[in-house]
Amino acid sequence: MCGVPVLAEFRRMQSVLGTPLTLIKGVGPKIGEKFAKKGLLTVEDALFFLPIRYEDRTRLAPIRELHHGQSATFQGELISLEVRFYRRRRALEGLLADSTGVAVLKWFHGNFDWLRKRYPVGSTLIAYGQVSDFGGRHEVIHPDLETLDGSNDGEMETVTPVYSEVEGVHPRALRKIMKKAVEAGASVFLNAVPPEAAALSGLEGAAWVDMGKVFRELHFPPKGGEELEKIVASSRQVLVLSEFFLLQLALLRKREGVRVAPGISFHPDFGRIKPLLRSLPWELTGAQRRVLGEIRRDMESESPMHRLLQGDVGSGKTLVALLSSLMAVESGYQSAIMAPTEVLAEQHYANISALLKGFPVRTALLTGSAPAGERERMLGELASGEIDVIIGTHALIQPDVEFKSLGLAIVDEQHRFGVMQRALLASKRRDGRTPDMLVMTATPIPRSLSMTVYGDLDLSVIDEMPPGRKPVKTKVVRLENRQKAYDFIRGEIAKGRQAYIVCPLVEESDKVDLRAAVETSLHFSEEVFPELRVGLLHGRMKAGEKEMALGAFYGGEIDILVSTTVIEVGIDVKNASVMAVEHAERFGLSQLHQLRGRVGRGEHDSWCFLMVGGPVSGDARERLSIMEKTCDGFRISEEDLKIRGPGDMLGTRQSGLPELRVGNILTDGPLLERARRMAQAVLQADPSLESEGNRVLAAMLTEGLQRKLAILRAG
Ligand code: ADP
Ligand code: MG
Repeated sequence: MCGVPVLAEFRRMQSVLGTPLTLIKGVGPKIGEKFAKKGLLTVEDALFFLPIRYEDRTRLAPIRELHHGQSATFQGELISLEVRFYRRRRALEGLLADSTGVAVLKWFHGNFDWLRKRYPVGSTLIAYGQVSDFGGRHEVIHPDLETLDGSNDGEMETVTPVYSEVEGVHPRALRKIMKKAVEAGASVFLNAVPPEAAALSGLEGAAWVDMGKVFRELHFPPKGGEELEKIVASSRQVLVLSEFFLLQLALLRKREGVRVAPGISFHPDFGRIKPLLRSLPWELTGAQRRVLGEIRRDMESESPMHRLLQGDVGSGKTLVALLSSLMAVESGYQSAIMAPTEVLAEQHYANISALLKGFPVRTALLTGSAPAGERERMLGELASGEIDVIIGTHALIQPDVEFKSLGLAIVDEQHRFGVMQRALLASKRRDGRTPDMLVMTATPIPRSLSMTVYGDLDLSVIDEMPPGRKPVKTKVVRLENRQKAYDFIRGEIAKGRQAYIVCPLVEESDKVDLRAAVETSLHFSEEVFPELRVGLLHGRMKAGEKEMALGAFYGGEIDILVSTTVIEVGIDVKNASVMAVEHAERFGLSQLHQLRGRVGRGEHDSWCFLMVGGPVSGDARERLSIMEKTCDGFRISEEDLKIRGPGDMLGTRQSGLPELRVGNILTDGPLLERARRMAQAVLQADPSLESEGNRVLAAMLTEGLQRKLAILRAG
């Protein structure tokens, strides 16, 4: 079947793939429920429920050659099966013999009577499991067993797929059902990849022709031995590439959709921006300059900007945000900067207002804690256009917030917001035109991940730090050395520096830990550093209190700021040269990196102490040691991704990370790159997928994918 599939075939595929598994012969309501618990509802789900491994009968190990620690499949005759006692522990023990030796099969749990009925002495069994050597014999505890007797229809193939357990369904019954479901689905499954894209896949064109074959071979490989590995690997590649291809196509189309939407062409009066540039205490870095050039081109163009600005902590994104905002303002539009926390919004507001001092640009701060009257007034000024640049939190996307003419929407620390929130801010224009959008993130995301999560955005990277930055010297401090670290802090403060102490306390939503935060701060102010001025900052404080605490720290009236992770972003006190993170083992890698970014911002040498406060898991040890080794945010995020996996790193649902069924963003990076090129090629030839040959592809995108890709719905 080589021709271009027609829409009717697509409909048939949709309907077969959507068939409930309960309609498969052998699956009644009861079994259906067990499948449902595993997330398997339809024929499509079954198709993508790939075996976790295969039992390869062509690779049966002779029992004599089994060795400790190996996972092996071997075959033999069951010569006995009896209950025994091991130090009063009851166990069922079987002996399986082939011509080379005898292995022990052992059960400590399970229904022994049933097992003995199921596996009569004298039957030939294939056993799979981890071999251990015990008492001079090879043994496998709780082996997976197959009988090779007359009742085994269809089970005599050389390769048997092993699926992840569906509770309450015997593996053999599961395989039978899978066989039926896979056959039904495979026979209608269409290849989504057009020939011109397949040619770029690096796979042979033939690989794409019959998707049914790909599924059949993955579920029921026809050959064992070395062939097996080849077949499985190449079939899997086809599936992963198809999946990535559709994903990239969707993302690129979405980007294209934004590009062709009516936007704003900004023509700023640079005569009014230059004086501000000249008033800055420093030169722009090369990277800031380059990135601003990219933003300027986007802003001048008719089509809406949709750009991700990535730059490590302290790389100077705020200034880029400010100058971009000015380009909007000096073209007669408003700009909005949205930050994920009040503290960060306040910081941006303070920094930006300071830089704008003396310039006729009106800024305002809108957060959830603005008093009703003030909020009312601000909303009025926003709607009338008296406010040029508004900085705020989620408060900016409330329904009653209206702009006179929003031209540029900037979202800081993008990964803390959902895609929906980003879209809401962009929707604050009434005339049907799309404001330009700049999203900023300090979490440098490995390329494979950003291509997936932000594949619809153009990317700008600030890859250069402002001059004079020195790496923050980082040390893990064990309990017994904690006094030395505190003494070091004392020494720094004696030299005129300031310090942060970060505690894993009082998240902003947490109501009960308030007392703990206050107690912790008392511990430091009265017991550890009674001679110093210690302040407290946490997310549950009222806005006014926070401002006071921060103001005092900025002003040098406080030596040590004891804080929760609210300081993670935005705070910029150049005189602070040392940070101690209490219970550092409880923090994630990216978070530690963000926290550490608060020091090392001035001309002073800086230190970060990672205070270990309890038992440390292997993962935590690894995190801490990475922090000691590098200050490079990009390396840290790659390591973080390895430790945590993409979903956890970005907070899956929030971030718009698609649920992939076969591909793995971490390990299939090169395939992702290829898939993107494939998608680009298709769109280049047929941007709106209107051609006859792409009709099924277009249908797959709009109907087949929407369920999985929240990102596509978010506009
Ligand atoms: P980010 O938001 O990327 O974490 P910031 O915008 O807070 O970083 O900038 C970090 C610090 O660097 C701020 O104190 C800022 O004033 C300073 N800074 C920004 N750009 C430059 C530059 N070109 N030269 C020197 N210092 C700069
Ligand atoms: Mg910032």
